[in-house]
Order: sequence, then C-alpha cells, then structure tokens
Amino acid sequence: MNIGFVGLGIMGSPMAANLLKAGHSVTGFDVSAERVEQLSGLGGKGVTGVVDAVAGADVVITMLPDSPQVEQVAPLVIEYGKPNLLYIDMSTIRPETSRWVAREAAAVGVRALDAPVSGGERGAIDGTLSIMVGGEAEAFEAAVPVFDALGRTVVHVGPAGAGQTVKAANQLVVGGIYGLVAEAIVLLEASGVDAVAGLDVLAGGLAGSRILELKRHTMVKREFTPGFRIDLHHKDMGIAVAAAREAGVSLPLTGQVAQLVAAARAQGHGSLDHSALLKVIERLNG
Ligand code: NAD
Repeated sequence: MNIGFVGLGIMGSPMAANLLKAGHSVTGFDVSAERVEQLSGLGGKGVTGVVDAVAGADVVITMLPDSPQVEQVAPLVIEYGKPNLLYIDMSTIRPETSRWVAREAAAVGVRALDAPVSGGERGAIDGTLSIMVGGEAEAFEAAVPVFDALGRTVVHVGPAGAGQTVKAANQLVVGGIYGLVAEAIVLLEASGVDAVAGLDVLAGGLAGSRILELKRHTMVKREFTPGFRIDLHHKDMGIAVAAAREAGVSLPLTGQVAQLVAAARAQGHGSLDHSALLKVIERLNG
C-alpha cells in the first residue's frame, strides 16, 4: 500500500520503518527536517508538507503529540486525501477530537479510525505495540494489514473515540504503577534494603508488571532518558481526568497521579521519561 505518514518522532519514526519493512511504500512529513531526512535514509520518501504526504496515499497515518496538532493536520488529510482514503490517527488525543475527525471525514467519504497505541518506543521499534481502535468495523478490517506491521495486540474496541477512551484508561494505570514503583524504591532505600534485589522479587510475583520488567533497573539508577516524556503523560492525565468528568465518574487515584505528574513538570522534569515520577516522591521525602 501507499502510506502517507505525518509525525516521525520517537514513535512515528520506528513505526514508519516497520511499514517499510513490511513492504509498504511510505511518504512521510514532519515539521522537523531532520526527522524527514531520517525517513529517506530508511528507504521512505521524505516530503516538505502534509499535502505532499497525503497525495496518492491509500492510507494516511498521523502520529502527532496532542489534539491541537491533529486539529491542524486532519483537515488537510481529509481535504487532500483521495476518495475512500483510510485515515488512521494513532496519536493520543481527546476522544472528542477523534469523534470530530470521524464526522468531518465521513462527510466527504474518508474512512477514519482513532488507533492510539501502548508499548512505548520499544514496542514501536519491535512492532509489538498494543493498538486500541475506535471507528467503523469495515474501516477496521481494511486497516488490519497496516496494524499487523506495527503491533501484536490489535483490538477494535468500539465506535469513533473509543480507542482514545481505552488509551486514557491505559495511561491512568501506567501512571499509577510508576507512582507506586517510585514509592517502593523510596521505601526500600530508606529502610536500608537493596532496591534492585527488592524489585527483582516484586517483578516475579503478583506485583509484577511490564513496567517493573522493563524499567526497574533504570529507575534505581536514576536514568530518565525518554522513552515517554513527562510532558506527554501530563497531557494524557488531563485527557483521563476530562474523560472521567464527561462520563460522570469519580476516579480519586487518577486525580492524585495527575497531580504527581503535574508536580514533576512544575519541578522542571517535563522532558524526562515518565519514570522520573521517582524524583517527585524523593523530593517529598527531603
Ligand atoms: P514526539 O514528540 O517524539 O513526536 C511527535 C512528532 O510530531 C515530532 O517529531 C514533531 O516534530 C512532529 N510534529 C508536531 N507537529 C507537527 C505538525 N503539525 N506536522 C508534522 N509533524 C508535526 O512524540 P512521540 O513520543 O512520538 O508521541 C507521539 C504520540 O504518541 C503522542 O500522542 C504520544 O502521547 C503517543 N505515544 C507515545 C509513546 C511513547 O512512548 N513515546 C507511547 C504511546 C503513545
């Protein structure tokens, strides 16, 4: 397939690489010229604008930071896409923005899906992302060959916006686990217990999680190279809190995690990995 790809950052770049490996042709654009050049180096075609990435594409994927960027790019995709284009937005954004994109697309015969992902940079590189998809069943079926090149767990979770609601649930769980792993490290160290040994045991028991599996050693070493930036997790906690408000439910732990992530940002750690929540818990303790 001819795939247009907009947003070649930490996630988008390895995802585009996997689409190329699967035999698709990829035409990509990013506001960063360096990112576009990187795609050309991988065998894709780099272009200098959204419209050029969309021209002639069977499928367009966007992997942008947040809702405002999707609000800016999606109308161009919809206007310049060929008839019956399949437009898959894989960014993590507000469910209501995804519903708006789906409505605008449907009005001109473009099939739109919201398909945010989980699995981080590692999952993007390995092609093992979890992909949660909202939209029409027929569009989902058409997108399966694309998803197969990018992920391992791919689930159609409901109508437009549902993918983003599932992603909000994912992010509140991830944030909560990071916060609690950080508290476990602070407790172990303050008690004179070796944190690596302690977390190694936790990772093999009921408390085990993918976060403990992948991040416990870097957290104990205080290595916070992103990965997934605190700034983006702050955005996602805002989406989760707003989604809870819209659904009329109270999520008290989500509120606390959102405040911890906000504190990490306020303390100047916005561009560090989200495991840097540990810095906030440490600062609370002197
Ligand atoms: P990133 O900041 O590394 O990448 C975003 C890219 O979009 C950048 O290269 C930026 O230059 C580009 N961009 C911004 N505005 C643009 C525009 N108008 N036109 C073209 N390009 C534009 O972010 P990322 O970590 O790759 O995350 C992308 C999305 O995926 C976010 O919504 C994030 O929440 C989500 N996500 C990230 C991870 C992760 O571990 N990094 C995991 C799951 C989901």
